[in-house]
Amino acid sequence: MVIAIIAHDGKKAEMVQFLNEQAHILHKNEIELISTGTTGKKVAKAGFEVTPLLSGPLGGDAQIASKVADGTCNMVIFFRDPLEKHPHEPDISMLMRLCDVHDIPLATNPSSASLLIKGLFID
Ligand code: PGA
Repeated sequence: MVIAIIAHDGKKAEMVQFLNEQAHILHKNEIELISTGTTGKKVAKAGFEVTPLLSGPLGGDAQIASKVADGTCNMVIFFRDPLEKHPHEPDISMLMRLCDVHDIPLATNPSSASLLIKGLFID
C-alpha cells in the first residue's frame, strides 16, 4: 500500500501532526509513504520513512499524478491551503482529476484523511 502525502506550506505542520496521530496504524499496516519534496523533508525530520519526489512547484504533484495513473499509488492525502495561490495549480487539478479517473481515495483535509485511514485499516 503506497500513500502519497502532500501539504502546502501553510498545512505542513498539520500534516506532521496528522501522521503522528496515525503513526501506529501506518506502522502496523506497513504503509509506504511517498511525498512531494518539501513535505517529505518535514515529515522525514519528524522521524517518518518517506520517499520524497520533486517539490510541488517543480513537478512533484505531477509525478504523484503519474503514479496514480499507472496504479503505483493507492491513496492521496493532500492538505491543500485554500487561502493561498499556487503557481502549479494546473498540476494540482491534474492530480485530483486523475484520482477521480482511477477511483483512488483522496483526502484534502485532516478530518477526511483520518476517516479514510480509519476506514481502510484496522486499528
Ligand atoms: P512541497 O509541494 O511539498 O514541495 O512544498 C507541495 C505542493 O505545493 O504541491
